[in-house]
Amino acid sequence: MQIIENFSLKSYNTFSIEASAQYFSSFQTMEELEELLQVSMGSDDHLILGGGSNILFTRNVSGWVLKNEITGIEKFHEDDEFYYVRVGAGENWHRFVMHCIQNHWAGVENLSLIPGNTGASPMQNIGAYGVEIKDVFHELEAFHKRERKMVKFGLEDCEFGYRESIFKQRFKDQFVILKVSFRLRKQPVFNTSYGAIEEELKRMGVQTLSIAAISQAVINIRTNKLPDPTIIGNAGSFFKNPEIEEKQFGVLKSEYPSMVGYPLADGKVKLAAGWLIEQCGWKGYRRGDAGCHAKQALVLVNYGNATGREIYVLSEEIQDSVLRKFGVKLEKEVNIF
Ligand code: FAD
Ligand code: NAP
Repeated sequence: MQIIENFSLKSYNTFSIEASAQYFSSFQTMEELEELLQVSMGSDDHLILGGGSNILFTRNVSGWVLKNEITGIEKFHEDDEFYYVRVGAGENWHRFVMHCIQNHWAGVENLSLIPGNTGASPMQNIGAYGVEIKDVFHELEAFHKRERKMVKFGLEDCEFGYRESIFKQRFKDQFVILKVSFRLRKQPVFNTSYGAIEEELKRMGVQTLSIAAISQAVINIRTNKLPDPTIIGNAGSFFKNPEIEEKQFGVLKSEYPSMVGYPLADGKVKLAAGWLIEQCGWKGYRRGDAGCHAKQALVLVNYGNATGREIYVLSEEIQDSVLRKFGVKLEKEVNIF
């Protein structure tokens, strides 16, 4: 186990922001994590890092950055309907999805090509194309940093919401997620109604629907629409899609007839944040190396040497302008450090 001082995090965050960690190390087992927590005793400042694809560094880390590298994918149980699969937090999420497709374990195909690691997937209940991990979640094992004990969390315990969980709210920075278990279907239930999936399946000439075909369709759409972080720094959607009251939506829709709104089960309406940002003129905007992506305004980008602060300031300006024009408050999805 190596501990490195003044470690550059530039290649450890997909925004490619230059920031340093006072101390950096990685762990591959719970015992190594415990050892690191022991060594760093006295410091409450431990940032647990996965793939760094949902974080914006606006300053250096004046404490510890611990990278979770616990790997392994293990089917540990099955019943008539499901396979139960335990995954190490350090496993790359997309690699796990591909493993599921190869083994005909259904449920995560719509979540193909989401960057980052499996351990972070419950943090914001990752979601795309009408599926969230709460739909396939079984339980997780996490280590309480201060109390030094393992705790299991079932579905209800995680308090999953739209891009939310208890780990982003009440238990923020308290636990290190070590393993996540999923309940994957033996017989797939296809979900193709969302976004451009059906259109893409048609374009691909798919005759017989399968989880592999859906996964490939999602990969094609995402590759075409989203900036590749290895080329242009970004952390995916910077803001959540806001949910507003039906009444407010009615008022806005009469003023902006092309406004997109999706009715939700609780009576609210979800707006497409990308559309709101685009209407405020930000799509394709660039100032220095900080910008708003030309194909999807919801994605803020680093064209090279932007600082985290510059991206952050831009995000605040975008929030202000959307609030002024539409009276809608955008909430940041990316974790700001
Ligand atoms: P990191 O960025 O490393 O960490 C995120 C947060 O979780 C941090 O606060 C960190 O401290 C904490 N954390 C990480 N691992 C652990 C752990 N083991 N225990 C405790 N805390 C931990 N997200 C979606 O929901 N849907 C999408 O479709 C999607 N598309 C994206 C597309 C692109 C191009 C990019 C760049 C990002 C996208 N994201 C999407 C965001 C991101 O990929 C996910 O949120 C992902 O789950 C983050 O994983 P990570 O390992 O990179 O987390
Ligand atoms: P899109 O298809 O252009 O649609 C814009 C937004 O409208 C989406 O974000 C989605 O909200 C919502 N939407 C679309 N179809 C819907 C439907 N049938 N019912 C309810 N809501 C609907 O979106 P996109 O930007 O290309 O992204 C496609 C999917 O990938 C979305 O689910 C998006 O969340 C996900 N994605 C997430 C990130 C991230 O970093 N979080 C980055 C890229 C893509 P939802 O976001 O609520 O699903």
